[in-house]
Amino acid sequence: MELKEALVQLDQLQRKMYAYQVASSSLYLDATTVAPRDTAEGRGVALGILAGERHKLFSAPQAGELLDGLWEQRDELDHAVRRQVEELRRSYAQLTRIPADEYMEYAMLTNEADSVWHRAKEENNFELFRPVLEKLVAFNIKFAGYYDASKAPYDALLNEYERGVDMEYLDGFFATLRQRIVPLLRAIGEKEQPDDAFLRRCYPVDAQRKFSDYLMEVLGLDRAHCTIGETEHPFTLEFNNKDVRITTHYHKDNVDFSMYSVIHEGGHAKYELGIADQLQYTCLAGGVSMGVHESQSRFYENLIGRSLPFIQAIFPKMKEFFPEQLADVTAEQFYRAVNKAQPSLIRTEADELTYCLHVMVRYEIEKQLIGGTLAVKDVPETWNRLYKEYLGVDVPDDKRGCLQDSHWSGGSFGYFPSYALGSAYGAQMLRNMEQDMDVWGPVSRGDLSQVSAWLGEKVHRHGGLMEPADVVKNACGDFDPTVYADYLEKKYSALYGL
Ligand code: ZN
Repeated sequence: MELKEALVQLDQLQRKMYAYQVASSSLYLDATTVAPRDTAEGRGVALGILAGERHKLFSAPQAGELLDGLWEQRDELDHAVRRQVEELRRSYAQLTRIPADEYMEYAMLTNEADSVWHRAKEENNFELFRPVLEKLVAFNIKFAGYYDASKAPYDALLNEYERGVDMEYLDGFFATLRQRIVPLLRAIGEKEQPDDAFLRRCYPVDAQRKFSDYLMEVLGLDRAHCTIGETEHPFTLEFNNKDVRITTHYHKDNVDFSMYSVIHEGGHAKYELGIADQLQYTCLAGGVSMGVHESQSRFYENLIGRSLPFIQAIFPKMKEFFPEQLADVTAEQFYRAVNKAQPSLIRTEADELTYCLHVMVRYEIEKQLIGGTLAVKDVPETWNRLYKEYLGVDVPDDKRGCLQDSHWSGGSFGYFPSYALGSAYGAQMLRNMEQDMDVWGPVSRGDLSQVSAWLGEKVHRHGGLMEPADVVKNACGDFDPTVYADYLEKKYSALYGL
């Protein structure tokens, strides 16, 4: 096939895959926002067909031949197209290595696992979930071999979420955090906690909605390209770089929940909206990895959103939205309240300091499960022991213990570390940003445009054009977890007068 014709076909293939993705995402968005309650069945039929068609399109021998043909002519391709071919070949090889019957069986298993997990969590019954979890672990060990047989199974899984990251990398990372954060947390435990009772006053949802609009404005999210919806759990969904949706959830007696959800999801949205036009409708149009995506959301949420200059900048406006609730509260008090560090049981409700310890527990367990040194039946006991060791808390039941997350029931093993890595990457980005420019002057005036421009240049616009490790290198320099540990130690020592 002539190169020109092959390039036309490559473009068509990627646009079709984009279209399937948009259709499935639209149904998902509809399901989570406005669809009536008892309508899942029909949507399930449509989603199944869309997934099947997409799979058929991409796993067809013609797709493989097209990609191989282009790869042979790679010296004639421009950089972006070459990268597309490289990425697509990787996905194609992986997809076609998994036998079709196993692929189908696994899809059915994760579907079943989701409802079993929901029930097990509700009934606080790990035994109910155990047989399903055993199957999920066995499947993932087998799939790891299909992904990359040359690697240890857990390394192969980690590589799927954060290419280039392995156990050696993470062992060093988590060891640094453990050595620095566990003692810090113990020292904080001896100190008096700030008063955060005012965060639980009644904050009417209508006022919170207006506050969200204001926050999106501060973040520089153009409402012609990004809307906000309301769902049970906040998320970001991207169609392309001109159309991104974020969601939040309003709790009347918990004003900071939605506030930091909007800033977090807003960070994800900034990334997707900042990806270069030339990458749209290709496989490179999207955040490069889970870890890098989380680095962006957490950068806005924690490094900026939970900083004193930012809170001081927006506090006068906050008082306009919530005049009675915040009448007797200062920006400084608000800052201390939203940075309260306290060991807890639930990961998604954890503060900035203890969050990575929650992730560390999951990492240790996954590593042993997939490595074959921990039996599924022993997960609850190991979970509880590690929570005691790292966070100093007693886990009262599995509902608030090893059954709390949906990740394993969805078949995701190796995903959790990305959350902690993202925070660490963010801390290094901040350090580099501070060397390049005045970060806090503009932020203290509520102006995030320079911060966004820096991230846009170093991270956002590249999409998947670079390897994840190269994006990290570009924005962070060499990965060094002590930078993150230093950041946490400095911030929390000041907050708690250590
Ligand atoms: Zn996130």
